[in-house]
Amino acid sequence: MNKYEYIWLDGFEPEPTLRSKVKVTDGEAPEWSFDGSSTQQAEGGSSDCLLLPVQQYENPTNEGSLVMCQVHTGEHETHPSNTRAAAEAVASDEWWFGFEQEYFFTDNNGNPLGWEEGTPRPQGDYYCGVGSNNVVGREISDAHLDACLDAGIELTGTNAEVALGQWEYQCLGKGIKAGDDLWVSRYLLHKVAEEFGVCVNIHPKPKTGDWNGSGMHTNFSNEEMRSSGSEELFNSMCEKLGAVHKEGIASYGSDNDMRLTGLHETQSIDQFSYGVSDRGASIRIPIYTVEHDWNGYLEDRRPASNADPYKIIAHIVGTLTS
Ligand code: MG
Repeated sequence: MNKYEYIWLDGFEPEPTLRSKVKVTDGEAPEWSFDGSSTQQAEGGSSDCLLLPVQQYENPTNEGSLVMCQVHTGEHETHPSNTRAAAEAVASDEWWFGFEQEYFFTDNNGNPLGWEEGTPRPQGDYYCGVGSNNVVGREISDAHLDACLDAGIELTGTNAEVALGQWEYQCLGKGIKAGDDLWVSRYLLHKVAEEFGVCVNIHPKPKTGDWNGSGMHTNFSNEEMRSSGSEELFNSMCEKLGAVHKEGIASYGSDNDMRLTGLHETQSIDQFSYGVSDRGASIRIPIYTVEHDWNGYLEDRRPASNADPYKIIAHIVGTLTS
């Protein structure tokens, strides 16, 4: 018998949350169903929604497989909550995405780890910090890294972030699988944290005041950007994205206005700018790209930590290919 852990996104607003359940069966992972009236995806009178497997991973925390799914209605149509469909329609594998997922570990009451006794010392020592007075949660971050690598998800690094209890990992993928991988990496983060009795908070500003928020800087490239780029190409892409800045912000996570203030290495949410090496810009042109004769990638610094990667992919690729 095979054990399949089905994973999907529910219908919660403004951001979906992850759901899962386990199926034991012979053979391949089949289409399955669930009670959509319990996930804000259907009315009780006709509650069945369908789970269609779209990506499979080795299960690093249990035997069997993780099965990422998209949701269809009981009538076999794309469910309104299914943001994956629009991204899949535009994102071919020539598009590469590197998501820098920032988040906080918290206790079960929502306090960031290390904040149980009150507000810690001001920021300064924590970023890439070493020593138990400077860093908390490393064992969980390390376990999550191993779990993702075992599952076949390409994490390219992790680091302790600027606030105490705040962490980041970087997740690289191609085409629509980049979105699937990021969602499954979040799923594994929650599950690994469960084993340590802690929670994960991906809100973009869990602590107001002089504390960094959490973002999800999105690095991206296509074939032309990587191998036959030019200054004109990169500038024109930034201009195109700038022309639809408002739509971008609408696709880049909720409560992002609390984070994009113009402070803490961000541009204001109502302004758009781009520049070489500029961490105060909406889009940074990395020095790597300039030094490689304008072959490389761009970093969109606007997405919030709670953004749906499917919406990010749909916005960036949709804008740059239309
Ligand atoms: Mg960071």
